[in-house]
Amino acid sequence: MTEGPTSPPEDYDLRNPNEEEGRRLEEAVEHETYGETDFEENELHADGQMCARCGRAIAPGDEVRRTASGGYQHEVCPA
Ligand SMILES: [Zn+2]
Repeated sequence: MTEGPTSPPEDYDLRNPNEEEGRRLEEAVEHETYGETDFEENELHADGQMCARCGRAIAPGDEVRRTASGGYQHEVCPA
């Protein structure tokens, strides 16, 4: 009898991918419901603009939102 490394039962192997897939699906659905309204506006050319809140320049990759006054601010403002 050889005592090899214990391999996990196949059930274990199968369960993980399934869970991940489920999670991804949830995320996708969330994005869809959120996405249509404001998300596109958030992708406007905010680079070069100033954040109305912290006064810093907004980098091209930063997520921004429009303020009520028509300016921009970081979606997650460091200020
Ligand atoms: Zn800011």
